[in-house]
Amino acid sequence: MSPDTLKAMSAALAAGETTAVALTEQALAKAEAARDLNAFLHLNPENALAAARAADTRRKAGTATALTGIPLAVKDIFCSEGDPTTAASKMLANWRAPYDATAVARLKAAGAVLIGKLNLDEFAMGASGENSAFGPTLNPWDRTRVPGGSSSGSAAAVAASIVPGTLGTDTGGSIRQPAAFCGLTGLKPTYGRVSRWGMIAFASSLDQGGALAWTAEDVAELFSLIGGHDPKDSTSAQGTVADAATLLAEPVAGLTLGVPESFFEAVDGALQGPLADAKRQFQALGVRLKALELPFAGDAVPAYYVLAPAEASTNLSRYDGVRFGHRCENPADLNDLYRRSRGEGFGPEVKRRILTGTYALSVGYYDAYYRQAQRVRRCIFDSFTTAFQAVDALFLPTTPTTAFRLGEKRDDPIALYEEDRFTIPANLAGLPALSLPVGFSQGLPVGGQLLAPHFREGRILSLAHAFQQATDYHQQRPSEQGATP
Ligand code: GLN
Repeated sequence: MSPDTLKAMSAALAAGETTAVALTEQALAKAEAARDLNAFLHLNPENALAAARAADTRRKAGTATALTGIPLAVKDIFCSEGDPTTAASKMLANWRAPYDATAVARLKAAGAVLIGKLNLDEFAMGASGENSAFGPTLNPWDRTRVPGGSSSGSAAAVAASIVPGTLGTDTGGSIRQPAAFCGLTGLKPTYGRVSRWGMIAFASSLDQGGALAWTAEDVAELFSLIGGHDPKDSTSAQGTVADAATLLAEPVAGLTLGVPESFFEAVDGALQGPLADAKRQFQALGVRLKALELPFAGDAVPAYYVLAPAEASTNLSRYDGVRFGHRCENPADLNDLYRRSRGEGFGPEVKRRILTGTYALSVGYYDAYYRQAQRVRRCIFDSFTTAFQAVDALFLPTTPTTAFRLGEKRDDPIALYEEDRFTIPANLAGLPALSLPVGFSQGLPVGGQLLAPHFREGRILSLAHAFQQATDYHQQRPSEQGATP
């Protein structure tokens, strides 16, 4: 068990081998030492150390949970009371959240120590981390490459062993793609499983909070805590989430895993070896593989890039320079206030989404674009329903390539959109999906993706856990310098 995992830290705390204060000081020191990664937008040493002292007291009182005293961090799209919460946008550069997101409140209630807020693509729009208004995050495995996005800081902070776990959000792949690029396990739960209360909205019918960590065990620990019904979110699913041990304990031998061959043929050659090995590894665990196809999956990217911008255009209309967010200097009149506040506050990708989304929702285009995209969404949903009549879970690549170079796709938005072609289908269908490390190619991590029917997070966590007990990809770490090993 690597000492930088949540499980190892929890065990060390329980055994009295370390303290929350010591772990927190270490996490803060590592975050400072790795400033060049630009993984954090804000560090909060005073609050973190106060929370750590409280956690040590709680442990002495005998009321500690597995997370009490563990240093963690959340994507800066989750509101945390009193802290800057920016969504990596100039629009919210000076905004402090007046309350905690439900996921954050649950972490705090369990005694976790939140050391800061993590960088992301502005309003979670992007797949490289380069769309942050506060500069790109670097990949700890190779600092010339992107960590993926939009949960860029969430992935880099774990991969650099600063904190053992983080929260991210996934609207079209933003937990799984960075997890894959950084050698981590990342779970996007079923839509509605993790409350969206206090999560700054991007595309509300797709947004889902989740966790990143080295192992399925650690992800299960975080998910079991943050998941479950929340009356404050009207789209929150009913029911609670099982504890981590139960989530990880589903028998995997005898399960049938569907493998859409066309997806595997579409990835870069460098990923094909590790993905083929992963299939064999699942077979060695007693899992049956079944070839199948997912019709309409190829239409997921175009449908998503109508639906997500359409929802974004309405969600982001609240940033008008009046109630909150950036306000321009000396507006001449109301229209000037709107135009300049929004023009100055939003970055280019966010503007692009607002424009395409508004267009797709306009009278005369609504049927051709928005309604048509909803139909495609339904077809994708149905093709998964059909697939899950024949198989228990699905195995897919997470990404078409390994982490690409900073700048490589910056001027080509469409190329960046294509990054998510294997992850978007799960969002459109609301399914739980997880990325896990399945190997390396030229020193860079390769991710594989597991999908299950709605509410079956336990099945994919158990499959990933079984895989990790038989492999050691999740135990590899970047070298200190961040050069390729
Ligand atoms: N890369 C996708 C986008 O830019 C997904 C982002 C996300 O999941 N938040 O929209």
